[in-house]
Amino acid sequence: MILQIPSPIHQLESDFLAEHRVQLFLKRDDLIHPEVSGNKWRKLELNITKAQEFDLPILTFGGAYSNHIAATAAACHHRGIACIGMIRGEEHDGLNPTLSLASKLGMQLHFISREEYGYKAEEAYIRQLKDNLGAFHLVPEGGANFLGVMGCTSIIKELPKPFDILCVAGGTGTTAAGMLLGLKANQRLELYPALKGGEFLQKSIAQLLEYSLFEEMAVNETLENLIIVSDYHFGGYAKINAELVDFTQHFFNEYSVPLDLIYTSKMMFGLFDRISKGLYNKGTSIIAVHTGGLQGNEGFKSRKGITLNF
Ligand SMILES: *Cc1c(COP(=O)(O)O)cnc(C)c1O
Repeated sequence: MILQIPSPIHQLESDFLAEHRVQLFLKRDDLIHPEVSGNKWRKLELNITKAQEFDLPILTFGGAYSNHIAATAAACHHRGIACIGMIRGEEHDGLNPTLSLASKLGMQLHFISREEYGYKAEEAYIRQLKDNLGAFHLVPEGGANFLGVMGCTSIIKELPKPFDILCVAGGTGTTAAGMLLGLKANQRLELYPALKGGEFLQKSIAQLLEYSLFEEMAVNETLENLIIVSDYHFGGYAKINAELVDFTQHFFNEYSVPLDLIYTSKMMFGLFDRISKGLYNKGTSIIAVHTGGLQGNEGFKSRKGITLNF
């Protein structure tokens, strides 16, 4: 598997950004690999190493359109290890684009009810799965474990220059937790949750940080660098509207960078809105992480008849 690591970093240039006197860079994790793109690779890397070390298949959880499921299937395929995907919801006639790709790449798919899916973090349920399916290395939904957090610290290690603010989209907060571990005291991480009520991610991130920092004081100190910008969710997870689709198309036309509709376009929309409101000092240097996820756009196109020309 050929990975573009370190991922490139590109400066975005436009009249809008010049007018507002901010320097904006994109860390292009979407270019790491065509199938295992973005932060999903960061979160999987150490998990895959561990599974290989113990010669175990990976078992993980996700929704039917999940970027994490797509990335796990592709990464395991390329690394030559087996994987099992526990998919929320019934199996429909014909698989959607995400699941048919995952299945083609060799992921063994199991469809489970929403109720059963709710047990995905319970010890007794996992033990039962091991009784039925044999031993596996468990990767929680979204890659949200200690190894996932540690893998995301490499995003920061690859950054070539000083900066003031980092921006990233959030689902489980795992990527944000890893990035926070590498920040200096005067740097800030702005997290743009893709879900409604994203303030709850503060707690999830505190929990994830505890795995690696062990001490409450260190966790709290690290959390001081975190700003949760929770008002750009567009109604909730995977909710979109015409304004967002428009923004995504215009963003591509202006900067030649495709965004995904679930995460990165909401982050960019929010960031641009905040820039236009003058929330950043002159000369502020901002690095936004493009966490990938572009495979998710295919699902939107087929389900909602959305057109994006890129
Ligand atoms: C999964 C995903 C995220 C969310 O990452 P977390 O570590 O769960 O917060 C962000 N952006 C994209 C494109 C994703 O696919």
